[in-house]
Amino acid sequence: MKTFLYNIVDSFVGFLAPKHCLVCNSIIDKENQIENLNYLCNKCYYNQQVAGTSEAIINRMLSSFEADNVAITYAYSLFSVHKTDFLDVIHHLKYSKLYKVGVEFGELLAQKIKQESDVVYDAIIPVPIHKAKKRERGYNQSTFIAKGVSKVLNYPVKEDLIIRAKYTESQTKMNAKQRVANVKGIYELPKDKSFYINKTFLIVDDVFTTGSTINSMANELLNNGAKRIDCATLGLA
Ligand SMILES: [Zn+2]
Repeated sequence: MKTFLYNIVDSFVGFLAPKHCLVCNSIIDKENQIENLNYLCNKCYYNQQVAGTSEAIINRMLSSFEADNVAITYAYSLFSVHKTDFLDVIHHLKYSKLYKVGVEFGELLAQKIKQESDVVYDAIIPVPIHKAKKRERGYNQSTFIAKGVSKVLNYPVKEDLIIRAKYTESQTKMNAKQRVANVKGIYELPKDKSFYINKTFLIVDDVFTTGSTINSMANELLNNGAKRIDCATLGLA
């Protein structure tokens, strides 16, 4: 019943305020809609640059971190955000409270995961943000991406397996080495070790930059007995 009412309200709002492409601002209708996306028109979708392969992403991590410190086995990413307008989409998800953007592109990301691999995950873990930051922004954008992935692949989203214990400076202007130092020891695993032993987890985030954040989480999980950690992001910087 709740969903039924929600759908009515949703289509009514859609009728009053048609959806616009977050990149080119054109109205999205039946003619230019693709892959059920409501926030990116078909033209802008095809204009996006497909992100590099897992191998390329892992190789990049190997050039920034010590080889035995790279804790990610496989990395999925949808689009390059290096000098592309897909960053506009990410920006809306992060700062304009457009949660649905995260869910929609999370579903698209799940299609890619399905195509590339048959690994079974015990849980999807959104990259946590510090509670002070969550208070300030009101939400964690990665949670919505994780929900989209979960809708398609049916793995549970677990936000309580790892927490961000320290509030750190923004990493935007830092290089790879500074980022590694910045995220060292900032994650804590609040659960009993038995929750992690022999588990395979998928870490989900909006953008993969140097991978320092994701890798730091992955190391923490592996050190507590997890078997394998992969990651999935919408954008690749
Ligand atoms: Zn467009």
